[in-house]
Amino acid sequence: MQTLAELSECFQLYAVCDQCQRVARVDINTLMEKEGGDYPIDRIRMRLYCTTCRKRTQALRIVYVGPGGKAAHFRYR
Ligand SMILES: [Zn+2]
Repeated sequence: MQTLAELSECFQLYAVCDQCQRVARVDINTLMEKEGGDYPIDRIRMRLYCTTCRKRTQALRIVYVGPGGKAAHFRYR
């Protein structure tokens, strides 16, 4: 199981709402401050919901950005 600490090394998280197609970045560092680095990604997924239409979503996109998240560009489709 992946944890916040593991993902924060090389990845960014984006939540996607199926209903309104809204995409929002989920700040891993903020989550780690609140929940701790051992917090599993699966639980983040269970707690997601869209603040626009208030629908729950479990669509979480994990985007590779390279070590330290310093990659200037990344592809998103
Ligand atoms: Zn929505």
